[in-house]
Amino acid sequence: MSNTTVAAPIRERVLRGLVLHADHEITHEGHGVYTVPGCSGGTYRVDLVPFGGEESCSCPDFLRHKTPCKHIFSATIWRSKSRAASLRTQRPKLSPEAVEAGLDRMGA
Ligand SMILES: [Zn+2]
Repeated sequence: MSNTTVAAPIRERVLRGLVLHADHEITHEGHGVYTVPGCSGGTYRVDLVPFGGEESCSCPDFLRHKTPCKHIFSATIWRSKSRAASLRTQRPKLSPEAVEAGLDRMGA
């Protein structure tokens, strides 16, 4: 194992983050803090630090590597979609139905 290969694992985590976002519910606790479900049933606390600085996550992966994990990517994706949705509809959160409708539109 090498500590210098960063790009490939990050790419993998982005993809896993996308899957996580599609499959699980992310909760915005306020002030840039999100609760993101982990694959093994627990939840992790992600802090996206809205005013700059370093994102952080409470999962073992982030604590060990100090690089953005899939939970951070999931929360980032969720936040960007949530902002876009609230600009259009003033709703704070995307419903699963709205996400599915959006995916249908993109696929059509
Ligand atoms: Zn994490």
